[in-house]
Amino acid sequence: MRQLLSGTAASRGSALGRARVRLPHALDIEEVRIAPEDVEAETARFHDAVTEVRHEMRELRDRLHGALAQEVGEFLDLHALLLDDPELLSGIETLIRSGLYAADYALRLQRNRIAAVFEGMDDPYLRSRIDDIDQVIGRLHASLHSHRAELQGASGEILVTDSVAPAELAQLQAQGVVGVITAGGSPLSHSAILARSLHLPLIVGAPQALIKANDGDVLVIDGATGQIVLEPDAADLQDHHARVAQARQERRQLNRLRREPTRSLDGVDIKLWANAETREDVIEAHALGAAGVGLYRTEFLFLGSCELPDEASQFRAYRDAVLAMTGRTVTIRTLDLGADKADKTGLALKDEPNPALGLRGVRLSLAREGLLHTQMRAIVRASGYGPVRVLVPMISSGEEIALVRRTLDAVRAELQAEGHGMAARIPLGAMIEVPSAALSLSSFIRDCDFLSIGTNDLVQYLLAADRTNDALNALYSPLHPAVLRVLRDVVRIAQRHAVPVTVCGEIAADPVFVPLLLSLGLTELSLHPATLLEVRRAIRSSHLGQLRGAAPALLRARSRTAIERWLDARSIAPP
Ligand code: PEP
Ligand code: MG
Repeated sequence: MRQLLSGTAASRGSALGRARVRLPHALDIEEVRIAPEDVEAETARFHDAVTEVRHEMRELRDRLHGALAQEVGEFLDLHALLLDDPELLSGIETLIRSGLYAADYALRLQRNRIAAVFEGMDDPYLRSRIDDIDQVIGRLHASLHSHRAELQGASGEILVTDSVAPAELAQLQAQGVVGVITAGGSPLSHSAILARSLHLPLIVGAPQALIKANDGDVLVIDGATGQIVLEPDAADLQDHHARVAQARQERRQLNRLRREPTRSLDGVDIKLWANAETREDVIEAHALGAAGVGLYRTEFLFLGSCELPDEASQFRAYRDAVLAMTGRTVTIRTLDLGADKADKTGLALKDEPNPALGLRGVRLSLAREGLLHTQMRAIVRASGYGPVRVLVPMISSGEEIALVRRTLDAVRAELQAEGHGMAARIPLGAMIEVPSAALSLSSFIRDCDFLSIGTNDLVQYLLAADRTNDALNALYSPLHPAVLRVLRDVVRIAQRHAVPVTVCGEIAADPVFVPLLLSLGLTELSLHPATLLEVRRAIRSSHLGQLRGAAPALLRARSRTAIERWLDARSIAPP
């Protein structure tokens, strides 16, 4: 039966596909026995899993919103009851104690026993309740295994899952998955950024979908609005096809701007750089006429690999990016692993209590001996093939940029002695994304050849609002007066010292924010190629002089609502 669900739009595009629900309840478990002396520990492990699942379901319930919240909540209540069902729990415990089965296998045996009872029922409704048992058993199984099973998808499928890691997305797309829905997550997470880079429709914060959808259901999702239709009817299918056709038409119109300058109505040129995570992004950036690559997120190259990238593989990747830009500058950011970008090599700590405030970015590069040195060698060698800049993430003080510069200088001398070619000059820049860096910028700007403002993190750290937490989506906003003030101050300091400054956070990728960024004095933006032409179009419809004249009113705004009003008054309607 047709049902309308909703989540938060995270990556545009309309997709039609068959649902693959990833509740880890495929209990493909070998029979494992335990020794009698391990019975207590195994029983305790099982009970810990039950407690964890109870907690997880409570959290899921708290996240429900929208029209179906009550109905879906009732499902969860039913699952909570099943979780407390003595038949289920004591059955499993008996299997562990008397049968000496490992908890996982006991779970499977008990599931099969209960399934047999359900399957014998005449009433189809009652028979279908085995799905609920599977949901609960699946959660228990996942909890017993702290590691996640690899996400799998097939061509024409829309994956419905609790969360998705950046490293999993490219693989899913390669498998032919046409869209992803997650119960949690936020549009500012690195997974969402990568989904946009892959042009893979993504809807986050949709716990209802995880509960309502079953494997094989047909889904239509609209990544621009967050709308999900379960078992779409003829009209939904027509809407989907219309959206696809419209997107194609819009693309055709935008493509006319590929070779046009990014010039405002009053004749000021704005530099549009591209953000890139993959080689395909770099190629697309070049084709769209980007001024260069303003942010090459190197960590994305290595998230999928179980081994640390060596100098040779890094060098090849950077060199190829440089070659693809045919003489336009490529800004290579040193590794920004950590937080929601955990790699598989164990380099980034997995169990930090507060990962966003943990050992990520330049902190990790400086803490792990050899890491920065190897990466810098690869970057400097790549500079022999075309212009390169080095950008350092998570700078919180001048000392860090000084340490990185020392490594850069040492690496240059080393490579020169080895006879490698390199650019005569490799500018070094700091990401301004930690409030302390923004506030103490005057004291170390002389050590920076350029700056790039990372609003994704700057907003999260200024507002103390986790960018990946969907419960904070309403709070996390670049339109807080404090954010605008910091942006204005960073731009002023940079202008005073004649240091080029770019904004490379997601705010630069949304044409809606163009008037705001231009009015604050920015003349360089870096954004993903997916929306580069839209932003170019918005800039070409803007009058820079007028916007700069309106900056005082913007900065006087005392609330987010007032800033939104200011923006609304300057909204740029696409032609
Ligand atoms: C940012 O924080 O704005 C940024 C561009 O870096 P990332 O999103 O990779 O953390
Ligand atoms: Mg950042």
